[in-house]
Amino acid sequence: MTAHRQPALLATDPELASLVTAEETLQARTLRLIPSENYVSAAVLEASGTVLQNKYSEGYPGRRYYEGQQNIDRVEALAIERAKGLFGVDHANVQPYSGSPANLAVYLAFAKPGDTVMGMALPMGGHLTHGWGVSATGSWFRGVQYGVRAEDGLIDYDAVRELALAERPKILFCGGTALPRTIDFEAFASIAAEAGSVLVADVAHIAGLIAGGAHPSPVPYADVVSTTTHKTLRGPRGAMLMCKEEHAKAIDKAVFPGLQGGPHNQTTAGIAVALHEAAQPSFTAYAHAVVANAKALAAALLERGFDLVSGGTDNHLILMDLTSRGVPGKVAAKALDRAGIVVNYNTVPFDPRKPFDPSGIRIGTPSLTSRGLSVDHMPAVADWISRAVDAAAKGDEPALAVIRAEVSDLLAAFPAPGLPVA
Ligand SMILES: *Cc1c(COP(=O)(O)O)cnc(C)c1O
Repeated sequence: MTAHRQPALLATDPELASLVTAEETLQARTLRLIPSENYVSAAVLEASGTVLQNKYSEGYPGRRYYEGQQNIDRVEALAIERAKGLFGVDHANVQPYSGSPANLAVYLAFAKPGDTVMGMALPMGGHLTHGWGVSATGSWFRGVQYGVRAEDGLIDYDAVRELALAERPKILFCGGTALPRTIDFEAFASIAAEAGSVLVADVAHIAGLIAGGAHPSPVPYADVVSTTTHKTLRGPRGAMLMCKEEHAKAIDKAVFPGLQGGPHNQTTAGIAVALHEAAQPSFTAYAHAVVANAKALAAALLERGFDLVSGGTDNHLILMDLTSRGVPGKVAAKALDRAGIVVNYNTVPFDPRKPFDPSGIRIGTPSLTSRGLSVDHMPAVADWISRAVDAAAKGDEPALAVIRAEVSDLLAAFPAPGLPVA
């Protein structure tokens, strides 16, 4: 019997402690394929759970509204320097609480309510905060949206240009949450220049791939780069806004005092550690392995007759259209969950079904790659997915239980970072 990992928590609040333990077990024994998730390292976990939590630090390093910042200033300065070094940017703000508030700060910096903004439509793979109707960004601003081509699931840059020139948006967003293909930042930059728009590259999903050299960087092209820190970048839940020097003041002012109060210093510390890790050669190898695994998994799924949006992937993410298998995305996702494979149901472009009950599932390889699974394991993963989807179609619960046991067996040999060995 090993010691409990949160002894004080166990003593104070056993009910909560048992939920944390159960979550550790769940994350250890399931194949986590949600492309926006990952396993942070033990070092990132430790940094995120420190007494830095106790400190109020409104302002920026050297310019605070509270005293006692001797250490906090250095923590934030470290995170900023590391972000600048890793991504090669002039300026980095590491204070946004998460990706959505980071994007809201961009609106505050560059647009006025009612202005036109342009982004990819949510059901085409964009993000809510790129001006979609149900988001504050789509009700306070006038959102116009582009999509992908029906024939090949790819962005039609000529159509984007045409719309941008017709609408002249203040802000043009590129990037999204369900885009399996490389984003042509240079093409977006030329469109933004013609339309007179501020180009924001929202690389929340692919920041780790960019840091590791496995996806082109938007830095030479975008006015602002927005990213979360907790997806492929493998840090704590948080975000960063990076930009050219000319926009630095506007961005900083928008984050604080425009939108937020005190930064979450414990998160800033975790971000600093994650950025340090991401600057190591092992992270470059990780980023390339994520992409190699996704390509191998896509190939193995195609071999098993699955339809993949855009026919495959260039990055960490695969969008599967299950229409031809006769199983709605939600039914498949729930069956996969019972089989120990965690995915999310997702709309596919031009989905005839509703967003809460769409045709597809979205999967990705960041988490399994963090555990050390390689291309050799991807046929087995594809097989499990195929068997689970077939079992969902037939309502074959015992088949799902068999898969769950096989998944857990394989994963036992690949302990996840940050978790106790199961
Ligand atoms: C995840 C994501 C966000 C939002 O991040 P949260 O931390 O969930 O608020 C914004 N944009 C894109 C493209 C994302 O993938």
